[in-house]
Amino acid sequence: MAPDGQMAFPNVYDAEPIPEAARAEIERLLLSGDLFRYTAPKDAPVSLLERDFAEILGARYALAVASCSAALFLSLRALDLPRGARVLIPAFTFAAVPSAVVHADCTPVLVEVGDDLRIDLADFEAKLPGADAVLISHMRGHTSDMDRIMALADAAGIPVIEDAAHSLGTTWSGRNIGTLGKIGCFSFQSYKLINGGEGGILITDDPEIAAKCVIMSGAYEENWKKHPGFQNSFCEWQNRLPLYNTRMQNLSAVVIRAQLPELDRRVKDGLANHDYVAALLNQSAYLAVPPALPQESRAPDSLQFNLVGDWTDEQARKFQAEAKARGCTVQVFGLSDGNARAFWNWQFLGETPDLPKTRAMLMRACDLRLPARLTRDELDIIATALLAAVKAVRGA
Ligand SMILES: *Cc1c(COP(=O)(O)O)cnc(C)c1O
Repeated sequence: MAPDGQMAFPNVYDAEPIPEAARAEIERLLLSGDLFRYTAPKDAPVSLLERDFAEILGARYALAVASCSAALFLSLRALDLPRGARVLIPAFTFAAVPSAVVHADCTPVLVEVGDDLRIDLADFEAKLPGADAVLISHMRGHTSDMDRIMALADAAGIPVIEDAAHSLGTTWSGRNIGTLGKIGCFSFQSYKLINGGEGGILITDDPEIAAKCVIMSGAYEENWKKHPGFQNSFCEWQNRLPLYNTRMQNLSAVVIRAQLPELDRRVKDGLANHDYVAALLNQSAYLAVPPALPQESRAPDSLQFNLVGDWTDEQARKFQAEAKARGCTVQVFGLSDGNARAFWNWQFLGETPDLPKTRAMLMRACDLRLPARLTRDELDIIATALLAAVKAVRGA
């Protein structure tokens, strides 16, 4: 509470406390100094995390690594693509995604994204011939039409990697996002549903891909023997692949694993919060929250909405400022300087083609953090601030 009895504007950046269950195990690791995943003969915290995560997602193999970016990089490497291979990615994603493609010596091909925040399927289909792989980034947890994408990619014989960094807990026709493509990659960076500070994990049902990723992640010499389930493949790949050493360490795994039991609650509360605020914002003629696709059950920890009804850039900027003046940080993706999710800021790619649909979307799509722990009162404060900011710019 603020001193005058008004509730202060909620802090949307703070994380939830790490569950108590992690404490004893962290203490044990600190006392023993056993931080490297391959020192213990078996049941190291990283191995237990992989076992549990694979089971929760329903995948045969899981490999925990340093970040989702590292998982994307290893996934691309494991596909044996030729140097310069063309990898389709949505033009609306985080800069780390084209970066992982470049890091893997491949060439990102940006596909248009519509104002529903999902891949434009006509542009996807047009760019598919000549592509060597597809990396679908479910940006901010919005799932593109995976039925169409998988059908088109399968027909073309092209592998699909899912960047599910923001999609842990999202399902598509009841199937877990991250299990639809050949490989699914997740993030445990602090702003994702499970907070490990940093960290990532990849899942796959393909034993050869799993074996290659394990070796390349840094299972040198015979450390791969501590990964269950695919011993023969490993002999094949040992010493034939580079070691990129992007392993996860035990402390991270303990912090992450202790949050797995929280997942269902965070998914449920995150979705309820999202839909509550979305309904309030949709009451304004000037705001529209893109609906989920019918196949999709979402797990949001943020909310995106479009400014609709002929906003000028100046009005959109004023809306950001009016919201800020009420304590609410909301970013129009394309109007905040140097935003890492605006493709024209990815200068490391050199020339990028103009993508008018994605550009138009980014100039009016707003991004709001909305963690699962927020209460109804806090959600009301946020929605009220945004609606008041609209009113200040556009009138009643
Ligand atoms: C956060 C994020 C990443 C990168 O994850 P890191 O673990 O920080 O490397 C990639 N893609 C999307 C969609 C993300 O939100």
